[in-house]
Amino acid sequence: MLKITNIYDNIPCNSRFKPDWGFGCIVDYNDTRIIFDTGAKPNILESNLRAASIDPSTINIAIISHKHWDHIGGKGFLSQQNPNIKTFAPKTFFSKSVNCSKQTNLISKNITIQENLHLIISKNIWINELALVIESDKGLVVVSGCSHTGIHNIANKASKYLQKDIYLLYGGFHLFRTSEYNIRKLCSDLSSLKVKKIAPSHCTGEKAFKLLKQEFGDNFIQNGCGKEIII
Ligand SMILES: [Zn+2]
Ligand SMILES: [Zn+2]
Repeated sequence: MLKITNIYDNIPCNSRFKPDWGFGCIVDYNDTRIIFDTGAKPNILESNLRAASIDPSTINIAIISHKHWDHIGGKGFLSQQNPNIKTFAPKTFFSKSVNCSKQTNLISKNITIQENLHLIISKNIWINELALVIESDKGLVVVSGCSHTGIHNIANKASKYLQKDIYLLYGGFHLFRTSEYNIRKLCSDLSSLKVKKIAPSHCTGEKAFKLLKQEFGDNFIQNGCGKEIII
């Protein structure tokens, strides 16, 4: 069983959820409940988890993709709810404010955290970023926070590392400042990587939403706060 529930996003989707700038989603994979990024404000995270009927104390693993405020804000709240939560975050530039759980693993290279669950690290000169990769029956599911290091780069690393095609690319694609020319190039790069479906959100940007929708057609999934995807 693999289910992804978007619980923190500035893109509205479900009226029971409060949209707010930032990103966070819950990945339920068999018996493991993961939160990937925690949004900006703990009270909004709490209210959206309630709207999704998710008890925060049942979250076993927290993955922080990168150090930005709009992804780390709810981490302290989650550690209060479950003091044994296992946390993964990128090693360098990691904000001390997030490091409040006993079991924080700072990651500097790709790792397997559990059977079929992997973390891929990508870097640029400003930032290190983690993406979660789930090996599903349908192919790889890649969850990314902001993709400052490039969504194509992250997708490429994931499929090379696991030698499998990507079924779903999910999260913030960070294309709001990217030119139309470069977004079109990205579309063809993702197609040549054989990415089947995409569910972009958060910092992807209006222009990119439009062009990606044109490129992927029925394989473009409208993502946003409260969206549930079952794979
Ligand atoms: Zn960011
Ligand atoms: Zn962000």
